[in-house]
Amino acid sequence: MDPVTAFAIVALMMLLNGGVLGLMHSDLPPALRPSAVTWRISTLLLACGCILFAVQAYLPPWFVLPLSNGITQLGITGYWHAMRQFYGRPDSIWLLAPAVMATAGIAWFAGPQPDLLARIVIASLAAAVTLIGAAWTVLSATRADGVLSARVLAAMFALLAVFMLLRCLYFIALAQVPSTVTDPRSWMNVITPMLVSILPVIGTTGFLLLCSDRIRRQWEIAASTDALTGLANRRTLAGVGARRLAQAREEGGLVALAVADIDHFKSINDRFGHDAGDLALQYVAARLSEVCGRRHLLARQGGEEFVAVLDVVSASEAKSIAERLREAVCFQPFQHGDVALTITISIGVAVLTGRDAQLDDLLRRADVALYAAKRGGRDRVVSEGD
Ligand code: GH3
Ligand code: MG
Ligand code: MG
Repeated sequence: MDPVTAFAIVALMMLLNGGVLGLMHSDLPPALRPSAVTWRISTLLLACGCILFAVQAYLPPWFVLPLSNGITQLGITGYWHAMRQFYGRPDSIWLLAPAVMATAGIAWFAGPQPDLLARIVIASLAAAVTLIGAAWTVLSATRADGVLSARVLAAMFALLAVFMLLRCLYFIALAQVPSTVTDPRSWMNVITPMLVSILPVIGTTGFLLLCSDRIRRQWEIAASTDALTGLANRRTLAGVGARRLAQAREEGGLVALAVADIDHFKSINDRFGHDAGDLALQYVAARLSEVCGRRHLLARQGGEEFVAVLDVVSASEAKSIAERLREAVCFQPFQHGDVALTITISIGVAVLTGRDAQLDDLLRRADVALYAAKRGGRDRVVSEGD
């Protein structure tokens, strides 16, 4: 296949992919749409660039070469920008620097001082820099969770960057540079459009997988957390609690539950309104989270009741952590406008023993202790058996 045909075919594939992405665009959640639009525009820009490369023999070089290269570089920059939008990175004008410098350089080496090797070196290096930037954006954003589609996309960017650098070195090392980038005698000229098409064609699929993975994760988070406080919800509590109990039974360890209930919470709602009550709940959740950290699971059981699954070695340790939970809430008043409200909580603690079969049993026992704390005057911790 000659390079002109290759450019024409890949341009067609890019246009089709851009069209498919356009059709799917409205199904994406609003937060993902800006990056999908950018990805689509970039794909269409690359298609335009390829069409211009294919017809360059029919147009004056000083006009078509900067234009085709500029549009192609802009398309590649667009992919980087799309990735930054996807991961919530701020817009930056500096992303355009490689594309702008390359276009200016190519204009110089196409018009006043025609030099194909210089143009190839400039275009390849600028593309490599942009592609490395895009790969870095994806890798740095996903280092922690390592989503597969993100890794594939990052690998695609990196692979193309390496290809661009090798292409650059290949032409520098070549004794005789071909007359144009569409000269069919150079195999490098034939494979370049094919490799460049990886991004708009396979990359678009990778991008859509990335979007669907983001949507799936958001659903998972929504299904497992409490929307108001961001804590684990009842469903997560049931799952994690049951797992911890089974593990403790098998390994002979210990699991304790602390059920905390805000004292006289209704009066906050009554005096300051439901919204203030919501803020108070968020405040209490934040204070309790500080104490629980990553070691103990904290969940909002519902209403103004929280449950901590404590990872402890003794009943006395469980009680002292519960005491810290109580102090964390009451020692620092909740500020609502000008009013500083001291919020107190009552806590019931129950510890796993051999006879507990289910999380519900343990919860019931912690509830009994909680009611004892309420009856005893509130703002206190009661362990079962106290
Ligand atoms: P006690 O010390 O006996 O626990 O008294 P209390 O007022 O805290 O308990 P009660 O069960 O009488 O009232 C709980 C209130 O919590 C009633 C309900 O309207 C309120 N509530 C439950 N969920 C929410 C919520 O998500 N936001 C707000 N603002 N209020 C809530
Ligand atoms: Mg209450
Ligand atoms: Mg309650």
